[in-house]
Amino acid sequence: MNPFDLTGRVAVVTGGNGGIGLGMARGLAAAGAAVAVVGRNADKNKNAAAELKTLGVESAAFEADVAREDAVERLVADVRERFGRVDVLVNNAGINIRKAPQDYSLAEWREVIDVNLTSAFLLCRAVYPLMKAQGGGKIINIGSMMSIFGASFAGPYASSKGGIVQFTRATASAWARDNIQVNAVLPGWIDTDLTRRARSQVPALHDAILARTPAGRWGVADDLSGIAVFLGGPASDFVTGTAIPVDGGYSIQGV
Ligand code: NDP
Repeated sequence: MNPFDLTGRVAVVTGGNGGIGLGMARGLAAAGAAVAVVGRNADKNKNAAAELKTLGVESAAFEADVAREDAVERLVADVRERFGRVDVLVNNAGINIRKAPQDYSLAEWREVIDVNLTSAFLLCRAVYPLMKAQGGGKIINIGSMMSIFGASFAGPYASSKGGIVQFTRATASAWARDNIQVNAVLPGWIDTDLTRRARSQVPALHDAILARTPAGRWGVADDLSGIAVFLGGPASDFVTGTAIPVDGGYSIQGV
């Protein structure tokens, strides 16, 4: 058996239409998995699914706001109808609103928590009966360096990403006997639309990250492809509840 072969498996990737989600989707597809691409933007979804098909797998686009309970329930039903099963769930959709803690409205706080954290709960809850009935599954939740560190401009974001790690541990404990492995990935600083906005809003961020990262570069979305294959397939069958940094060493650098 090739522990990195995902042939016949079906992966759902939220926020799979760009950035880190698409990088992970490319890895899963290259390993043989069919991929359901989920996002709000129908054009981005379609383009990503078309790109993934060129890797020789099935892929389809699903428009959904993952912060909404009704949309998530419908999404999982639609994926099941289209592909028949869900083997891998990647909870990757995420946003940030950058302000000092005292400047957030309650609506802004809730928006970030709902998209980044509550969505993971909703998706996990929706796929659990399928995975249990299938005899197992893989869930990959996307945290952040802000699962570990704080930042003055990221109160709700850091709270959501810390929550992702604890939610990962709780569900990993609960579902291990169902052969469902739940792990978190903590990306370092990766060049995407999200961090392009961060660099335009936070002075000197670009150089500060470069100086702090032992690898001496920003990450790219495809740096996340391999961890998706590892955590999405048989290679990680005895790995659960972890939070694995993919960060060029950012989180281990002392001085
Ligand atoms: P992008 O902004 O490039 O991508 C975000 C993705 O999330 C898009 O595909 C977007 O799709 C989707 N999305 C956002 N809101 C919703 C929603 N309500 N419903 C459905 N989909 C949604 O960001 P990244 O690729 O950088 O970020 C991906 C994940 O990685 C996030 O969770 C982020 O917090 C995390 N992360 C990123 C880091 C980085 O350095 N880039 C570092 C650490 C963590 P659409 O536009 O169609 O809604």
